Amino acid sequence: MTQKVSLIRGDGIGPEIVEATVRALEALEVEIEWEEVRAGTGAFQELGTPLPEETLASIARNKVVLKGPLETPVGTGFRSINVAIRKHFDMYANVRPSKILPGVKTRFSDSGLDLVIVRENTEGAYAGIEHAIPPNRAAAETIILCTRWACERIVRYAFEYAKTTGRQKVTLVHKANILKETHGLFLEVGRSISREYEEIEFEDLIVDNMAMQMVIRPERFDVIVTTNLFGDILSDLAAGLIGGLGLTPGANIGSEASMFEAVHGTAPDIAGKGLANPTALMRAAGMMLDHMGMTEKARQLNGAIDEVLRQGEAVTGDLGGKATTEEYTAALVEVIKG
Ligand code: ATP
Repeated sequence: MTQKVSLIRGDGIGPEIVEATVRALEALEVEIEWEEVRAGTGAFQELGTPLPEETLASIARNKVVLKGPLETPVGTGFRSINVAIRKHFDMYANVRPSKILPGVKTRFSDSGLDLVIVRENTEGAYAGIEHAIPPNRAAAETIILCTRWACERIVRYAFEYAKTTGRQKVTLVHKANILKETHGLFLEVGRSISREYEEIEFEDLIVDNMAMQMVIRPERFDVIVTTNLFGDILSDLAAGLIGGLGLTPGANIGSEASMFEAVHGTAPDIAGKGLANPTALMRAAGMMLDHMGMTEKARQLNGAIDEVLRQGEAVTGDLGGKATTEEYTAALVEVIKG
């Protein structure tokens, strides 16, 4: 049965990598009908709003959205539309896998590095509770919100994810030595829930130590559960370990809808030049297919990506190759079509 999915092309390199991903899914003959909607700076310039009602209505109807990156003005201007969509649909778990892919040379190529960051996606430092103090912005405050309920939900999600995907260990990353109330609560909840999952190993690490451990021996991590801010930063770090942002996908799993996207941003430096690597969004589409129950198609898509990277003839500049987005996509479609 054909399922409808909301599609947001986004800003910067968004339209290029979304087009490439749609072509790959067409080659796979997935039973998906796209409902294209707008968001981001492009939507703001043309429609006067960065997040039209119609977009929210489409996501609410279809419950699944594939999204290119959206530009957020730095400092002033409208708030992050990525954050707004996640909050609106209570997309509480941001799942970001990083694993070594065939043919991609990094310091960890032979290490078996294969970790998944589960980031709390609704509160923490990104809850949006902040204000400037007059006169003339003499100071500013941002509140870190940490509810027991949200901590329980994300930690439980991480353990359930580990259980259903056959993973062995959950590492909870925090700063409870300094942020004694908020992160103290997160850690307390983590320790308590871990006792319900005796078959899965549990450890906790302070974020600064974690940053170092991830650079030295990242293969020792399996599932990592952490706060909104730390998850944002550590997942970019993890992307760097496996060869860059062009490879790392992300899923935002929610109670009302789920959104699939690349971890990277709009890459304005290469936008419109046909140089973007669409792998991250394609792998996000693989996570989407899994989420929609199309596991065989997801397996085929990931297998085809691995094959093109292994062959190494049509890889993009970020991975040391010379291929354009178009050439990479054509090679992928050829592998898919067999
Ligand atoms: P934004 O403000 O939207 O987050 P940014 O430039 O700060 O944009 P990214 O878009 O994540 O952050 O890009 C960081 C760097 O990684 C840039 O040099 C960009 O060109 C590169 N990059 C990101 N995504 C890709 C991709 N898919 N293919 C190739 N290079 C990429």
